[in-house]
Amino acid sequence: LSPVPSDVEISRAQVPKPIWQLAEEVGLLPQELEAYGRSKAKVGLALLARLRHQPNGKYVLVAGITPTPLGEGKSTVTIGLVQALSAHLKLNSFACLRQPSQGPTFGVKGGAAGGGYAQVIPMEEFNLHLTGDIHAITAANNLVAAAVDARILHEATQSDKSVMERLLSLVSNRNLIVLLFNLSSQRLGINKSDPGALTPEEVSSFVRLDIDPAKVTWQRVIDTNDRFLRKVTIGQAPTEKGHSRQTQFDIAVASEIMAILALADGLADMKARLGRMVVGSSRSGQPVTADDLGVTGALAVLMKDAVKPTLMQSLEGTPVFVHAGPFANIAHGNSSILADRLALKLVGEEGYVVTEAGFGADIGMEKFFNVKCRASGLRPDVVVLVATVRALKMHGGGPSVTAGLPLPREYTEENLKLVSEGCSNLKKQIEIAHLFGVPVVVALNIFKTDTQAEIDLVCRVAQASGAEAAVPCHHWARGGRGSVDLARAVKEAAAWENGFRFLYSLQTPIAEKIRTIAQKVYGADDIELSPEAQAKIDYYNQQGYDTLPICMAKTHLSLSHIPDKKGVPTGFILPIRDIRASIGAGFIYPLVGTMSTMPGLPTRPCFYDVDLDPATEEISGLF
Ligand code: ADP
Repeated sequence: LSPVPSDVEISRAQVPKPIWQLAEEVGLLPQELEAYGRSKAKVGLALLARLRHQPNGKYVLVAGITPTPLGEGKSTVTIGLVQALSAHLKLNSFACLRQPSQGPTFGVKGGAAGGGYAQVIPMEEFNLHLTGDIHAITAANNLVAAAVDARILHEATQSDKSVMERLLSLVSNRNLIVLLFNLSSQRLGINKSDPGALTPEEVSSFVRLDIDPAKVTWQRVIDTNDRFLRKVTIGQAPTEKGHSRQTQFDIAVASEIMAILALADGLADMKARLGRMVVGSSRSGQPVTADDLGVTGALAVLMKDAVKPTLMQSLEGTPVFVHAGPFANIAHGNSSILADRLALKLVGEEGYVVTEAGFGADIGMEKFFNVKCRASGLRPDVVVLVATVRALKMHGGGPSVTAGLPLPREYTEENLKLVSEGCSNLKKQIEIAHLFGVPVVVALNIFKTDTQAEIDLVCRVAQASGAEAAVPCHHWARGGRGSVDLARAVKEAAAWENGFRFLYSLQTPIAEKIRTIAQKVYGADDIELSPEAQAKIDYYNQQGYDTLPICMAKTHLSLSHIPDKKGVPTGFILPIRDIRASIGAGFIYPLVGTMSTMPGLPTRPCFYDVDLDPATEEISGLF
């Protein structure tokens, strides 16, 4: 329709096929499906074993140029592309998307189901509770937080003997005690097989983790943009007297448990990673883990359903996996390895799996390659790089763009000069993708104000900059048929020889790994490590964490660390303020500048527009 109706109106106008019908179409057996209502279902991981001899399909990554704060359409391109591949080129295809946080859905940016005629339906189910994975993560994360503070309190108020006795008498699960004992014995270097044979000193070191309250790094989480939880004081009731401390809440998707869900390759691996999570350190400087707290089994129980990807469909009935949505700034911002794996088997050798990396290619794609592909062992065949005329105009010197406000005139009228100058960012992002040896197809996401001269200019520059192809895409206004040229270009590029390589070896020292990313990807002259960052490197070397990959925490609004520097900034030194580690997820994350892990609500949040008609249960105002 023209004009294109709102996302929720389009979603509502289409009746999704029953999920069991879609499951049968993609080759799932009834016992592999756990339906959640009529339009979504979890898929059991036993499928991986059933299809282990099936060759993988082609693996396509959708990334983007440095975006405006409005987003440039990576999710819509992903959906448009799979719709074109299946409905129009008759190729098996699957999209793999991240589950969005409710924070942005009710805050500034809205949902993440795509938009227009390229979206996942029902979009309200996609954008809100889905199948409860984020709730499970919140529960698991906060159980760890409660375990940490309760442990500190009990250790401070009870004698070793009484704690030991209480542990043994209260916990009915003997296996847990033995497990705790074994883990702690290993950690403490005590070589005894029977808890009864411990000396009083050994009992003390076994019972006491001696967590330093000032060195607790584990935070509580909630999936709401609630800025007033950025700093809180806990433990103010008389029963916790003397144990109050300052802490913070993060948005749920920033939990390390979300990053683990995205990187795990099965239930056993997820459980092992959960156990390795470091929650803080003891007064003597030893890391304290979830295993030390004895909480790993309970976490695995809370997460056992979340580990299964959720099957949904696009507006045109193409299968979509929605699974995991790690925060793209402090984590790696990519959907799950398990969803990609299952989809690659289901589409078969001639099929296509299109997965999306958050933020611009300098962040999301770099982490997709160096963190996600390293963990999965999967190799991408093609990168689709999404660009828009509006973002290129911003890089060419156009005025700043703010979500919720009308776009300035420069963005709604033809301006070839701004587009031409802004193409520097597109050229640089193509070069970054080529660093990894993968062919690049530029997808120019067309908005109704783009002129033919602007479109031609971008496609010309993209090809002159080394992209294997550059195509205008009309999926938002026309659905799959608007992306047929993109689908053909992707099919062609996937057949090209692919020289995939990582940017750095894991054996390279931490500072050198960071420098390589800063110089080769961001274009920095060098890095500057703060004393805190240098001290962390020394500590991580000592703990043996130095061979983990790097997950940069940098703004997505510029190739540099300064959001206002558009285009291709040069002549800058990248400051590394601090370095942190997600040991369970398996990466080290250097902080470039300050990163907020709890967004706030703006003056006019999206929730003002959201409403429900009680008579029909129809939702309005989501986008
Ligand atoms: P990203 O995944 O890059 O953040 P999205 O695909 O979520 O971007 O798109 C951001 C927003 O812009 C969505 O609300 C989407 O509906 C809208 N959008 C995307 N492409 C177009 C287009 N071509 N015309 C109009 N709106 C669009």
